[in-house]
This record gives sequence, C-alpha cells and structure tokens, in this order.
Amino acid sequence: MVDLQRQYQHIKPEIDAGIQEVIDSCAFINGPVVKAFQNDLEAYLGVKHVIPCANGTDALQVSMMALDLQPGDEVITASFTFIATAEVIALLKLTPVLVEVDPDTFNIDPDAIRRAITPKTKAIVPVHLFGQCAPMEKILEIAREHDLFVIEDNCQAIGSDYIFDDGSRKKAGTIGHMGCTSFFPSKNLGCYGDGGAVFTDDDDLAARLRVIVNHGMTVRYYHDIIGVNSRLDSIQAAVLKVKLKHLDEYAAKRRAAADFYDRALAGHPKLRIPVRYPKSTHVFHQYTLITRDLDRKGLQDFLASREIPAMIYYPVPLHLQKAYIDPRYKEGDFPVTEGLAKQVISLPMHTELDEEQLAQITSSVLEFINR
Ligand SMILES: *Cc1c(COP(=O)(O)O)cnc(C)c1O
Repeated sequence: MVDLQRQYQHIKPEIDAGIQEVIDSCAFINGPVVKAFQNDLEAYLGVKHVIPCANGTDALQVSMMALDLQPGDEVITASFTFIATAEVIALLKLTPVLVEVDPDTFNIDPDAIRRAITPKTKAIVPVHLFGQCAPMEKILEIAREHDLFVIEDNCQAIGSDYIFDDGSRKKAGTIGHMGCTSFFPSKNLGCYGDGGAVFTDDDDLAARLRVIVNHGMTVRYYHDIIGVNSRLDSIQAAVLKVKLKHLDEYAAKRRAAADFYDRALAGHPKLRIPVRYPKSTHVFHQYTLITRDLDRKGLQDFLASREIPAMIYYPVPLHLQKAYIDPRYKEGDFPVTEGLAKQVISLPMHTELDEEQLAQITSSVLEFINR
C-alpha cells in the first residue's frame, strides 16, 4: 500500500545526516531537533503551539485529558473511523457517542451530531478521514451553540486545507480547539517509528498539554496533575524535520496518483470514485472506492494474485466491534457506515507510484470488474 523504501532513497543523505547528528549528540530524548521540528511544524500549519507526543492515539488521549472532563461526559465522534478515536474516549471513562457519516465524503454528518447532543455532551471529535476535512464550519457552529470543545482527529489529513465560505483557508487540525496527528510511518507525514502531536492556538491548553505529556510535572519531581509519559524522540523528530519540507510535494504526488485512478475508473457502473469535498483540499491518505454489486473479496484476491495490495478501511464499524458492544447501539443503527464497511476498497496510495504501476493497477481492476 505504501513504498517507504523508494521514498527513503530520494531523501537518504538528508535523513541519514539528521539521524547521525542525533546519535553523535546522544540527545535522544528532548534533543534540540525536537524543538526545531516543533517550530517548523508550527510555521507550516500556521498554528501557535505544536505539542509533540509519542503517537496519534496519545495525542487524542492527552487532548481529552487537558479538558478536565468527568466520567460519563459524552464525546461525539464518527461511527466510521479507526478505532483509536473511540478507544481513548472509553479509556478515560467518558462515553463515546457515535454518529453517522456522510455517504459521499465518509466524514461525520453535522445533522447527526445535532441529533446526538444531550446535556452531558462536552466535546465533538470530527475525523478528517482519508485526507479531506470534515465539514468544520457547521461543526464549529454547533459547538458554539452548545458550548462544546472540538478536537480534530487529523491523523489522516495533515497538510490539507479547509476552505471557509468566505474563501479563507486554514490547515486541517488547526480549526477546532485542538487537533491531533500521528506520524506513524504510513501516514502522510510519517516518521521511522511512532510519533504524534497535538496542535492548538490556545495558550492555556498548550501549557496544560505540555505538563500532561510530561507526567503532569511542572517543576521537576513536583506533579500537579495526573499525566502520562508521551514523547516524540529525537531520532523521529530528525526524520520528520526532513520530511516536513517535502510534505506539499508528497501531497501533490498523491493527488496525481488519485487523478490517474479517477480518469481510469470514473463512470464505471460497479465503482464509485472518491467524491472530492469542495470545502477541503484532498491529501489522499487513502484512495477509497465504493463497489456496487461487486465481489469485493474476489477483487481484492485477484489484485493480490498480481501482487497489488488493496485494503478494506474499515471492515467493521465501531458500534459492531466486540470491545465496544453497547446496548445503546445495534446492527442497522448506522446504515451509511454499515454500507460503507461492506463496500469500500482502497487502492495503493503513496508518493512513489509511477504511471506504469498506476496503469497496471487500474487495468487489473477493470479486467476483474468487466469480466
Ligand atoms: C492512525 C490513526 C490514529 C492513531 O495513530 P497512532 O499513531 O497509530 O496511534 C488515530 N486516528 C486515526 C483516524 C488514524 O488514522
């Protein structure tokens, strides 16, 4: 699905030098490169504070810890997402409230958010799924009306822009009170291990987040609040500092691959190409098709037989996951999500796809669906 080998070969001298510098300095934890990357990312995103942490799941967790929510408080999120989004809500003894997504963009449906609000609702966690933004203006409007926090799960859309009604733009993850990202190797800005970060423009939240990720410690060995140990290590920061410079070029390459797929597959009665949401640029974390009257498993197996990987993101909606079985929900409650789980298939998507590979992938897809 991704080709990190070839991507590395293009930037090898810079990456190797950055890693070597960390090893030479032996400043493995909180070395100067962590701060340098933080500053670069703040400038790139146009956000006041980036708080690096150990992974995207931690980013979501610490951002919710920073809000001082009480057990039983409700947090609304999408029913169609990676499990981490709901996991941290449950882990903190908050109540995840799942809502339906839009069948075109796969992103959280604002009308469904409205219907899910109760006096216990404290926060909304929209996920910018597959690389394009959720409908943030409507979400912000609901949040303002009901005095709710908005935490963007931006693990899949770093670098994409939300386009407001007035034409102004903001980077995904910098629109709500906090935004969370993951630097897992296969993400759009990936390191060579685990990493993550929280973004915010709020000075108080930023200060609190920096204390939480460091054992709740303000003065060394004085712990004012309960925290966690969640750091981005220096070697990962060195890798990210190099790769951040390439992020926009990487997004352009992903878009070019998506354009190729679109041209080859558009209009086929058995497939629907991804719908591009006009209020967001798309950084194509995934290129996800919807199959219609098609043996999806057969297509996946056929592609695999030609050494073309294809993945199902996500085969089981959150409310049907064993660990999250909840009397509030049953099969049939989220027809859009449940339909998507049965119909989606994602094609290889990364920065190193060339025309020959793309042609081979699309002709194989067409060969299977036309036979
Ligand atoms: C990857 C991902 C996460 C978790 O990130 P990790 O760094 O793997 O912990 C959370 N939410 C979404 C939507 C993701 O894609």
